[in-house]
Parts: sequence; structure tokens; C-alpha cells
Amino acid sequence: MKAVLDHVGIAVQDLDKALAFYRDALGLEVEEAEEVASQRVRAHFIPVGQPALELLEATAPDSPIARYLEKRGPGIHHITLRVEDIAGALEHLKARGVRLVDQEPRPGAEGALVAFIHPAAAHGALVELKQTAAVGANLTAQRLTLGDLALTSLNAGPFRLDGGAMFGVVPRPLWEKKAPPDDRHRVRLAMRPLVVEADWGRLIIDCGAGDKLSAKQADIFGLDRTRDIGDALAGAGLSTESIDVVLATHLHFDHIGGATTRNDAGALAPRFSRATHVIRRGEWEDATHPHERNRASYVPDDFVPLASAGVVSFHDGDQEIRPGIRVVRTGGHTAHHQIVFIESGGKTAVFPADLISTTAHVDDAWILGFDLFPMETFTFKKQFIREAIDREYLIFFEHDPFVPAGYIREQDGKRYVEKVI
Ligand SMILES: [Zn+2]
Ligand SMILES: [Zn+2]
Repeated sequence: MKAVLDHVGIAVQDLDKALAFYRDALGLEVEEAEEVASQRVRAHFIPVGQPALELLEATAPDSPIARYLEKRGPGIHHITLRVEDIAGALEHLKARGVRLVDQEPRPGAEGALVAFIHPAAAHGALVELKQTAAVGANLTAQRLTLGDLALTSLNAGPFRLDGGAMFGVVPRPLWEKKAPPDDRHRVRLAMRPLVVEADWGRLIIDCGAGDKLSAKQADIFGLDRTRDIGDALAGAGLSTESIDVVLATHLHFDHIGGATTRNDAGALAPRFSRATHVIRRGEWEDATHPHERNRASYVPDDFVPLASAGVVSFHDGDQEIRPGIRVVRTGGHTAHHQIVFIESGGKTAVFPADLISTTAHVDDAWILGFDLFPMETFTFKKQFIREAIDREYLIFFEHDPFVPAGYIREQDGKRYVEKVI
């Protein structure tokens, strides 16, 4: 079972005194309190890196926290381990005769599923298992065919970015209906690389953020460190070794981070051990010479080790990468951002990456605040979406949390996406 520390719960007798220490003396930021009615407690989360501290305040005399305080006084109450499949984890524990408090998962805070293991089984510690809502849904790889090609949309994990930055000049009252922000103003996203299987081999377009980000970065971007591209491929019956070509739309960390990993000796190495990595030279130049405006998006450890290992194949213009796989520069998001046309049997699918990150971005002017050249995005996007509607291109939405792919349709001048997978 793979698990990461999610948080440590601390039972608190006097909240004001506890805040005087954790918030005022330590200077930590305390999130807005959340009432957990079933437990008759109020939870005050304190992010500290990826795991958090949770101050637990009883809201009724018969609350389990009140009883705990009565018996033992304030102190560490439980530790929470996040797992990918809580039902499977409970089955696993039951099969081994582990004593549980909860036989079945039950709803916890923030839409998560939780279950407690009995302290007698965990050597005196109360251990909570948790499966977050974001992880519970929509993880399965989705397969479809396009002419002679097999396409598999993977989910390399959840991801969150600032809502304002995701929608640029679009006012919040408009975008928040489509993408409700969390209490840290972030909107829910996903990272969905696409695998293309053909008679010439197996190619993957982008590969998610990978497993190298620190706990702090994982917290900032809402990543799930129990899951990355290796797990996503395994879920589709594939492996990183089975990939022949890694094709990058651009080198932002959420698109190419998965291309390298640390080996047992701690050295950075290509994650796809047999693959050629196809990268546009202009994007490489920009990524290796960042400036203040784009520095946060480029992590040299994601791509520099690929060149050192001699596994990069640079290309310059728009061209066919493999039969049926064609790249076209859009500019806009980055000067050399490119999208991928996949063509077979008279049908066309397109992987527009950050040109149309989610289904909420199908309006021409809904452009990422991250874009370096937004007017370039606008011009390309306007012409591209018209073409996509008229020619019925199947569009893959790399960052959409719910819809991996669909057709962009237009009715009475209003655009929408007809979900395919
Ligand atoms: Zn990007
Ligand atoms: Zn992106």
C-alpha cells in the first residue's frame, strides 16, 4: 500500500491559547475553520509543507474529541495517511486481521472518504486513512481509436493553479461558475498526457509534473505525491519502458516534469529509459535561458538531464514527428508552444495543451494569465477553434479535471464541449 502523510491532528482544550501558539508565536497561517458535524468537532487546518497540522476543537460534550480531552488532556490525537483506494486499503487490512474503528469508509471533510484504524492495532497511535475527493474520481485511463491509431488519455494526477492566472482578464464572477476556486483561490485541474500507439511504436505527448517536486511545491500546486506518470501508465497496462517517443508541447514543469526522476543513487535520470525526447529547439533555448516572468514555470532538472543523457531529438519548424503525428507552433503561451495534430483514417484529433487547457477555455478570449504573448494566443486560437468546430476535430483537454476529450460545438453563437470520454 502506498501512502503519504496527510496531516497530524491535535486535540485542543482551549482554541485561543492554541492559536496564540501555532498562529501567533510560530507565525503559521491557519485556514478557515471547517465544521465536521458527524464528529462534533471544528477543524482548523495549518498547512506546513505538504502535510498539515489540524487543530481539533470539540463542538459538543459528547464529541469524540471532548471525550479524548477528558481522558488524556490536549495533545496529538491522530495521524492521517492518504491512500489512493481507501476501500481496497480497508479490505487489505481486514484480510490481515487488523482491528479497525471503521469497517467501511465514511465521508470526512472536503468531500474526502476516511476510516480510522484502532490504536490497539497501530501501537498506540490513532491512524486515519483518507482518500481525497480529487483522487477518488476520474483516474482511469480512457482509450479510443482514431483510424489505425489507439489513443489513451492518462490522468497523471490532480493539480491546482490560481484561478485568476488560469483565466487572465476574464472577471472572476464569470469563471468561478465554471471552475469554482478553493479557499486558496486555486481551481481544480488535472494533468492528462496522451499515449498514441501505432505500428511504428508508442509515443506519449507530455508527461505531467513527475515525482521530483518538494513537499512545499506539492502543497502549493495541490499535487498528489502518491501518483505520477508511472502509476497512470500502469493503470493503462503500460510502463515507462514501453514508450518509444516522448513529445513535449513545451517545457513547463506540469508538462515535462515526469520525464526525469532521481535514481537510487540520487542522480537525475530519464524516466522513460528507452525513449527519444522530441523537443522544439526554440522552446529549449527559452527554457534554458529563463527570465523573471517565466522562471517559475521552468525547472531545469526536468529537461537538462535529458540532454546530458543524449536522449533529446531537437526539431525546428512545424513538421511530422512520426507518421500521423504533426506539430504546429502556436506561440502565445510561450514563444515556441506547440500543439499536436493526430491524423489517421481521415480523422483528426488535436492535443492543444495550454492553448485550450480546459473545456472552460473554448471561448477565444478566455486566455491564460500565464501566457507571455496573449494576443498571439488570441489570433491563433480564434482561427484554430473555428477550424476545429467546422472540421469536427476531437480535442484533448490536458488540464481539464473532468473531461479528457470532446468535440467543440457551437449553437446560437454559444460554444460548448460535447464530451466523448
Ligand atoms: Zn504551460
Ligand atoms: Zn500547463
